Amino acid sequence: MIQRTFSIVKPDAVRKNLTGAILTEIDKAGFGIVAIKKESITKRQAEGFYAVHRGKPFFDGLTDFMSSGPLVLMVLEKENAIADLRKLMGATNPANAEEGTLRKKFAASIQENAIHGSDGEDTAAFEIGYWFAGYELI
Ligand code: UDP
Ligand code: MG
Repeated sequence: MIQRTFSIVKPDAVRKNLTGAILTEIDKAGFGIVAIKKESITKRQAEGFYAVHRGKPFFDGLTDFMSSGPLVLMVLEKENAIADLRKLMGATNPANAEEGTLRKKFAASIQENAIHGSDGEDTAAFEIGYWFAGYELI
């Protein structure tokens, strides 16, 4: 069954001109791009997106980082998209990420880790709806 997931090329990767390299890997892994847009988001928008992490020690730094420059918001689709994107991304901390994963290749630190991917069906639905209107997903 074809499934959709939500992904972000984070501001660190956009700043380092890694957007093309990351999109190429996503393409090679068989994902279709349903929707894509480059935006600069506010701290408040970042706080809403990462609301599940509110209260954690990294929340303030994370939301500052996510609102520090342009990022690329995407809805991706393929069989098993949610789990497969998480696998392609690698562990949150690039120091623990497997060889060949996007975070191993492109991430600088546990915070500036190049890419976001939804971690489940419920979060994917919330995240897609948070950033994209229905008419953008036809
Ligand atoms: N993060 C951080 N410090 C931590 C854990 C997470 O700065 O100790 C940041 C990192 O950018 C991560 C995001 O917060 O991608 C969301 O954390 P989560 O645990 O959901 O990791 P992910 O699902 O992105 O792998
Ligand atoms: Mg997460």
